[in-house]
Amino acid sequence: MPIPLVVPEIEDEGLLARYPFLPQSESFLKELLEENNITIEDLIDAPWLEDIRIKARVRLIDSIVQKDSMGVSHTLDVSTDVGRMMEFLSFLHSMLVVCASFDERLLARWVEGEASRADHLMSLEMSNFSLISSTYLSSIDLRENEAGELEYWVPLSDFIELSPKISGKYWRLVNRPVSNGWVCLNSGFGESSSGRTSRLIKERIRQQLYDDCVERMARMDDEFASKFTDSVEKIMSLMSEQVEAEMPINAALREDWPPCYESTISELNQGINVNHVGRVFLAAFSRAIGISQEQTCSFFSNAPDYAPDTTNYQVNQIYEREYTPHGCSSLKTNARCPVQLGDDYLCDQEWMDHPLKYIRIKQKGRFSIGSQDIEKGSSEGHNMGDDS
Ligand code: SF4
Repeated sequence: MPIPLVVPEIEDEGLLARYPFLPQSESFLKELLEENNITIEDLIDAPWLEDIRIKARVRLIDSIVQKDSMGVSHTLDVSTDVGRMMEFLSFLHSMLVVCASFDERLLARWVEGEASRADHLMSLEMSNFSLISSTYLSSIDLRENEAGELEYWVPLSDFIELSPKISGKYWRLVNRPVSNGWVCLNSGFGESSSGRTSRLIKERIRQQLYDDCVERMARMDDEFASKFTDSVEKIMSLMSEQVEAEMPINAALREDWPPCYESTISELNQGINVNHVGRVFLAAFSRAIGISQEQTCSFFSNAPDYAPDTTNYQVNQIYEREYTPHGCSSLKTNARCPVQLGDDYLCDQEWMDHPLKYIRIKQKGRFSIGSQDIEKGSSEGHNMGDDS
């Protein structure tokens, strides 16, 4: 990953508190905890730190809900010691709650929220732009174009690594001016050159936050994680409600969906990277149950690597060639069957070998536990196609 081997020094404590995930913030955070005699246990339940826990919860909710302002309006005044401490420790507490959940969906959502918030803040605070960009990019250059406008140029290696994760034609290398190993992030489509650059930096912040949290999760034992149970339960419940509200299809149809289909849509919706089999299955199954091509494409719009043109092309291929959706055995082999024994009565049946069989039984309303209808289910799948 071409990030700078030596990051620039930052002495402005307000800036470190505003972006608490900066690599330069680590030692400042340690000092802050030591100077104020605060342990992680204090952060979890000391009464005098209750305001910080409340602020941490607001920060987490902002990440989950992901409104346009990304919680920037909740940003504190970091010119005071108290403001800086609140900003730092609320970030730390919210990160610990996310790690203690061991939930990839919550992690993906929180990381997206924090990275978007940073992107938004960077565009509002241009005075710090150069320090932050030279922390996250291996180099950066500001050049004047023929019209006398200033434009940011970034090394080709950074662009190649980060741009595939961003959708839109602007981010394809063939559409960017390139010169001697540098790529121009000029303004366009209502975005300034600095706005484009902070969008690129957002991808690196997202990756860094994600890697940090995965490492913390690996080190966190169950006993420590259980101290956050209450906070984790509350935020997981809020996230479920939010995901439900955002699902781009009506609930009446959804109650017939097999868990493998539901979970694929839900994961993509939350920005989780679904594997190739999962994506092909989603498009093929959508076609088979009569969901429009347009609606199917929209299921991918929150995918981390979403590119509308590529998605439209690939979904169109699957619709035109009438791909048969994968069967249960193939989905299980490719880690796309989310159920375990006891999770779903229909999936537990020995004859359940295809998600289309699942939905047909549900749709015919013939499913009732212990009835002959289950028996009938066993003859449903003979024309379902091979499990491939
Ligand atoms: S058992 Fe089959 S239908 Fe049920 S979730 Fe798994 S893959 Fe889907």
